[in-house]
Amino acid sequence: MEIILFGAPGVGKGTQAKILAEKKKLFHISTGDILREAIKNNTELGQTAKSIVEKGELVPDNIMGGIVKEVLRSDRCKNGFILDGFPRTVAQAVILDTVFAELNIENVKLLIVGAEDSILIDRISGRKLCKSCGFILSKGALLIDNKCPSCSAVDSFIKRKDDDEEVIKRRLKIYHETTKPVLDYYNGKLTEIVVDGTQEIEKVTADILAKL
Ligand code: AMP
Repeated sequence: MEIILFGAPGVGKGTQAKILAEKKKLFHISTGDILREAIKNNTELGQTAKSIVEKGELVPDNIMGGIVKEVLRSDRCKNGFILDGFPRTVAQAVILDTVFAELNIENVKLLIVGAEDSILIDRISGRKLCKSCGFILSKGALLIDNKCPSCSAVDSFIKRKDDDEEVIKRRLKIYHETTKPVLDYYNGKLTEIVVDGTQEIEKVTADILAKL
């Protein structure tokens, strides 16, 4: 199964992608995670991306396209994948089409998770990230002994630099102006599945699984 997971920042794409990847045995490709890892390790990509990501802007299409092409062509994706955070522009969607054609990938599902901006701003400004494993702790979630529920690291939660309120607003503006047109580009081309991302995490997952 091949899934493109689409939705605004903060809608819970990363959380749902991780759950679905495990349940459906799909390879999870998160372009945001790839960039955060590169920034943490101060690689060449990380040095290029750092200030762009921290400002909430988009890393250039040719860079992102190159990264995604390489991952999709690798063996890790041969049993299916879930693409989380890509494509974010129409140019990226065009690049993706060329890779799908090259690899004979057909019947891709477009999974759209929706929510109002006001809910997203509230959610993102309250969430935290485990600096060891990337686990996202939702607003209001409690920790036992300050341990990460995913990797058990202690005192590892930090706020993402791009989760600052002004940056969130910029990310949402870019989402509406630059990323949403990707939906018009796909109109009718892929099998669309739409779910309400404002529900509890478990309910969103159940809806997705029922509709897949
Ligand atoms: P995410 O974790 O998906 O919210 O991504 C975090 C940040 O990484 C975004 O705000 C962008 O700065 C950058 N980023 C992630 N994916 C892409 C992409 N497909 N194109 C451009 N920039 C991206």
